[in-house]
Amino acid sequence: LSLSDMVEARSICVCVRKRPLNSKEVTKNDIDVVSIPGNGTLLLHEPKQKVDLTKYLDNQVFHFDYSFDESSTNDLVYRFTAKPLVQTIFDGGVATCFAYGQTGSGKTHTMGGDFSGKSQNNAKGIYAMAAQDVFALLKQRRYSGLDLCPYVTFFEIYNSKVFDLLNKKAKLRVLEDEKQQVQVVGLQEMYVSCAEDVIKMIEMGSACRTSGQTSANANSSRSHAVLQVILRRRNQVHGKFSLVDLAGNERGIDVRSSDRQTLVETAEINRSLLALKECIRSLGMDSHHIPFRMSKLTQVLRDSFIGENSRTCMIAMVSPGMSSCDSTVNTLRYADRVKEL
Ligand code: ADP
Ligand code: MG
Repeated sequence: LSLSDMVEARSICVCVRKRPLNSKEVTKNDIDVVSIPGNGTLLLHEPKQKVDLTKYLDNQVFHFDYSFDESSTNDLVYRFTAKPLVQTIFDGGVATCFAYGQTGSGKTHTMGGDFSGKSQNNAKGIYAMAAQDVFALLKQRRYSGLDLCPYVTFFEIYNSKVFDLLNKKAKLRVLEDEKQQVQVVGLQEMYVSCAEDVIKMIEMGSACRTSGQTSANANSSRSHAVLQVILRRRNQVHGKFSLVDLAGNERGIDVRSSDRQTLVETAEINRSLLALKECIRSLGMDSHHIPFRMSKLTQVLRDSFIGENSRTCMIAMVSPGMSSCDSTVNTLRYADRVKEL
């Protein structure tokens, strides 16, 4: 039995991942203010100043299910976060994995992987590793008789609007029927026959995500990207895995120097991240009490917050530098609130 087999899926798992200082930070003499001594503990050494101008470090302690330090690979992070959730969708459940954090903290590196060739770490991301495990399980005897068919959707939510990344960023409507079932009308659901098919879709969708900087949905860091792997059985949804690369939660956007567009975007991001926190906190409660209508993000992910077999994992990414301290505190507090049920 390997270590990864012993990691059981829990209904909610909250982890933090710290990336290494990058060369730009090193050049600017930024210092590492995050340490991870082990057992899920994370220490933040926040520099503060007293009224008499003496400086001191305010050491704050956080505890998470796992805290991954800067030496951890995507492979390791995957094994303890999303991997245990793959089983859930074969058992007929709904699994969701979120990457949360400020822009530049490593969300896309963790989810989509890093193929720039610059990274020393494992290039494959959680999307690709989850896809491989889905196909590995499909071949297992206990599931091969179920006639499960895998499909993929990939879309972006920007300023409360949904865009299909597998169909030239077509703008889509979200409808809710009388049974509160939410539907994204016209969303392309692509049949996939192997993990490579999924990886091709991811590459296609990611390219679509970052291109078109002049169009309405300009910057990928201001939008949420959702990749879904759906298992269908006799055309009914059997299980669904949503992997979400959230919009950056940065602090300190200057209200005076920002244009109206940026302020609207920021307000919308904050609103959806708040809604997400509230929905995760009400996981497993009576569906009438889940505030999923608070944002488009939580509305399209409604299934993730209901049902007995919903499992969620959040990976909060932090930058290690002192210059990112405000955002890091913000991220850690958010993750801390999500964890407390
Ligand atoms: P985000 O999606 O949160 O804005 P990115 O994933 O794009 O951030 O990461 C920003 C930069 O940092 C990228 O160049 C990425 O390769 C690098 N990076 C992020 N996390 C790591 C890591 N754990 N190890 C090495 N490089 C990383
Ligand atoms: Mg990103």
